[in-house]
Amino acid sequence: MNAKILIVEDEPAIQELLAFNVTQAGFQALRAEDADSAWQQIRNSMPDLILLDWMLPNTSGVILAKQLRSDARTKDIPIIMLTARGEERDKVLGLESGADDYITKPFSPRELMARIRAVLRRHVPQMPDEVVAAGGLELSPASHRVTARDATIELGPTEFRLLHFFMTHAERVYSRTQLLDQVWGTQVFVEERTVDVHIRRLRAALEPAEMDSLIQTVRGSGYRFSVK
Ligand code: CA
Repeated sequence: MNAKILIVEDEPAIQELLAFNVTQAGFQALRAEDADSAWQQIRNSMPDLILLDWMLPNTSGVILAKQLRSDARTKDIPIIMLTARGEERDKVLGLESGADDYITKPFSPRELMARIRAVLRRHVPQMPDEVVAAGGLELSPASHRVTARDATIELGPTEFRLLHFFMTHAERVYSRTQLLDQVWGTQVFVEERTVDVHIRRLRAALEPAEMDSLIQTVRGSGYRFSVK
């Protein structure tokens, strides 16, 4: 599944150029020319990343970035701000408004794509703080601790996220691609077999507590966390 990139740019020629480059790089391009049409696009099809022009008619890119950050549905979407301004204080203002990165016009398509990939890679879905319990396991995101019948289970960060996802989505089969999207975030360069590696590590960590069978392989489909 290709990451969807929403381009918010009022100048038709630049919007066209951005859409062309984004599509060439294998992403799906969505377009908007102002804040209103950006919100419309977001409601229709949640983007994985937003390329946001600083100077937009009516609502500026900085205001839109702040709005996106204060809305629960959009607060985690990475934003790269595009601007003709190159001053340091503008850069600070852009980043303070909630942008993840900042690129100054004119930019090379190669540099823009490198920035997009970097932001998508480091963007990982947020995990709520609530303690979750399932199948005799208890997992606390706040303290980053997993216990099985009072014994502590040591997990790496990815296994921890994976287990959290499974425990909160028990009894359902997930494909490797779905797990990548849900646990790793919208990364473009992770191979599907990476999932298998982390599933193996997770099972190995659960084995001493005899809980590795909670993670079931569903042949031809993927994996399932099941307490049955
Ligand atoms: Ca503009």
